[in-house]
Amino acid sequence: MIMTVNGQTKTCGLIGNPVEHTLSPVIHNLLAEMTGKNLIYVPFRVEGENLADAVKGAAALGIKGLNVTVPYKERILPFLTDVDALAQKIGAVNTLVQESGGYIGYNTDMPGLYRAMLSDGVSVDGEDVIILGAGGVARAVALMLSEKARRIFLLNRTEQKALDIAGEVNGYAGRQAVKAMPLSAWRKLPDGKYLAVQATSVGMHPRTDDVPIEDADFYKRIHTGYDLIYNPFETRFMKLVKKEGGKAFNGLKMLLYQGIIAYELWNGLSVSGEQAGKIYERLRESL
Ligand code: NAP
Repeated sequence: MIMTVNGQTKTCGLIGNPVEHTLSPVIHNLLAEMTGKNLIYVPFRVEGENLADAVKGAAALGIKGLNVTVPYKERILPFLTDVDALAQKIGAVNTLVQESGGYIGYNTDMPGLYRAMLSDGVSVDGEDVIILGAGGVARAVALMLSEKARRIFLLNRTEQKALDIAGEVNGYAGRQAVKAMPLSAWRKLPDGKYLAVQATSVGMHPRTDDVPIEDADFYKRIHTGYDLIYNPFETRFMKLVKKEGGKAFNGLKMLLYQGIIAYELWNGLSVSGEQAGKIYERLRESL
């Protein structure tokens, strides 16, 4: 895939631990080829105690941009020269752009999810939304959707984590946009049809038979189910949504668009819908 590496080649990459199964090189090396940039993208596995040195070393080597993945999205913040406003609000970065003296941090995960939903024709405006989970991603999803959705019900196995997020997001939103509930209390959801975002890690490969809620009655309330997991391509959650007549999507487009937005930041260009479609097909083949 990498055509020619020469004296002018720019480097971008990913830091995280582990990084061995990442699909990001597929996205960025293909984008470089499509947009005619002399750029390569490489994964770097970094041990926790070396994180500060890794950021300093990357800047010294002139690495143009970096993605950041688990477990460093929050931990890396003190080592950056600046953090953009949205990433500050979310409290996590997944993209670093080189500037003089270091890196500025961005979060392209949430704009990525938003662009993925737009591309799938899923609207959040005025919707009643269920978010399953209260981890780092669920928190960011709740923050993003609180600006557009009518009501958000945040359901988590550990209720306290959902309560903490609801308090924080409602503070930002200036209204009671988010209501926290334990996962087991889903029957207390008000009647109606919901957009549901599955933001737990349940059902991810290799435990593909797992699902956060089993009961068919839960899925009867869902008109659209958005699972942030993309491996497997069709999760059990998605199957149960479809079985009760809803539409279901996975997280592969979120992955695609967080990468595209990062690439756009690094290179100051716009990636077309046609280019995005080609990369999506390549990602599907790589799964
Ligand atoms: P996290 O911070 O580790 O949170 C995990 C969440 O899953 C918590 O709410 C946890 O509940 C819940 N959970 C775990 N095991 C459970 C079980 N057996 N039963 C019920 N709930 C359970 O993870 P994260 O970083 O937010 O990521 C969440 C998901 O998003 C992951 O699957 C990840 O693959 C996906 N993701 C997708 C993309 C993309 O581009 N598509 C990007 C980032 C993440 P407790 O609080 O009770 O432990």
